[in-house]
Amino acid sequence: MVPRLENFIAGAFQKSQHSRFVPVVEPATGQIYASVPESSTADLKLAIDAAHAAQPGFGKLAPAQRAALLRRLADAIDADSANLAVIESKDCGKTITQASQIEIPRAAANFRYFAAMAESFGSESHAHPDALNVTLRPPLGTVACISPWNLPLYLLSWKIAPALACGNAVIAKPSEVTPASAHRFAELAQGILPPGVLNILHGSGAGIGKALVRHADVKAVSFTGSTLTGAAIAEDCAASFKKVSLELGGKNPMLIFADAGFDGAVQAALRAAFSNQGQICLCASRILVERSIYRRFVEAFVEGAKKIRVGDPSHPDTQFGALVSSAHLQKVTDAIAVAETEGGRKLLGGSRIYLEGRCADGFFLAPTVFDQLPQSAQTNQQEIFGPVVTLQAFDNDAQALLMANDTRYGLAASVYTNDLGRAQRLAQGLQMGMVWINCWMHRDLRTPFGGVKASGLGREGGTDAMRFFSDCKNISFGGWE
Ligand code: NDP
Repeated sequence: MVPRLENFIAGAFQKSQHSRFVPVVEPATGQIYASVPESSTADLKLAIDAAHAAQPGFGKLAPAQRAALLRRLADAIDADSANLAVIESKDCGKTITQASQIEIPRAAANFRYFAAMAESFGSESHAHPDALNVTLRPPLGTVACISPWNLPLYLLSWKIAPALACGNAVIAKPSEVTPASAHRFAELAQGILPPGVLNILHGSGAGIGKALVRHADVKAVSFTGSTLTGAAIAEDCAASFKKVSLELGGKNPMLIFADAGFDGAVQAALRAAFSNQGQICLCASRILVERSIYRRFVEAFVEGAKKIRVGDPSHPDTQFGALVSSAHLQKVTDAIAVAETEGGRKLLGGSRIYLEGRCADGFFLAPTVFDQLPQSAQTNQQEIFGPVVTLQAFDNDAQALLMANDTRYGLAASVYTNDLGRAQRLAQGLQMGMVWINCWMHRDLRTPFGGVKASGLGREGGTDAMRFFSDCKNISFGGWE
């Protein structure tokens, strides 16, 4: 019997009202090591009732009291960080370095940041000669937070923290593929949050995810995941005019100009293409390079990619772990086959890697590089969400901009150049929610995070998140003089 990760409802771990359990697989070994319930509508009702009972009291706490609870959650994550990193690495196939140095510390940082926001987020007032307007930002009530498998605790905390900071009760549904860190987080939160303020339901998107989104008592849905699912959720929310925030897929370009620092740009491109095995929504999957340096860049990039150490993710020297599941490995392998039929030149990788020992059955795929694919190729248009990158040459700024913008997505772009004027022009012309100049994935929790076009709707982070998770009511005091 593998351990069962139960739902967390009303401050306690509760057996699901459903008999079906979904296996949880360790991607690095291919072995089942736990299971989660396929939660039912009966479980959802319990979570809704618990949230409803808890929210009014929680919503009335003074901001400083809510902030104190969030800081305790951050401290609890810090105190358990080594354990959480092992859990995350095992559950996702991600390297222990990525989990311990980036994701778990950032999860704690999310709670600390939104603790400060709980204390500083203010109501606005607008004085008029004969009235005083006060705009209140009360909590919404019960909200849903639905997150994907690629950065599980980091992305879940990025939603839960502002939702709690605003005084809502949360029902969270982590991806059924990677539920373990959410389960451990619930254990940590158990002694800190009042029962019912945070509830975690496990199970599939099509089952409990959809039911949660559609539930009439859920006042807002914050979703991070694929564009396809985002569209379905938007439709489900539209019927009841529910507030919805959608952080979706991307096909992010990195533009590298001949005047950029060459070695720095190569290293940035390697990191942007292959971090977390290419399974980050912000990964650059299209590297566009000015033609005069194209050949030199291709050589250096491929040489750099060859040196990436693929291996057991639990080993501290490993730089590149497993893909998240056998289904995802198959999806990425299929995309590679399409690239080959589209006439792409495979410069590196393209096939599964079989390691020895403990990881012999793991879902490993070599870092893969293609070039000579036309802009219209599916490989240059569709998100793959794996370690597959295409290289393309451009001749001038205008062509680079056209190519960068020519997909349905608009999440993020990077530009490497030392020409400030060019950087400014391109930053304005790029149809993206986020543009980095001479950097990649630089994060500041105060800045708006999100995309345009098929990459999403709304923004997370900073005051945008606080506004999303709060209602808005204007009160006019007449007779004001
Ligand atoms: P999915 O869209 O498949 O799933 C995301 C979450 O939604 C999962 O918890 C999933 O459950 C659930 N879900 C699926 N269908 C429904 C539904 N109808 N109603 C409610 N919930 C549902 O994405 P992935 O998990 O495959 O994650 C990868 C995607 O996420 C990529 O496209 C990536 O670009 C995007 N992403 C975007 C980010 C951004 O900030 N823009 C950041 C990170 C990832 P289940 O797992 O059971 O299917």
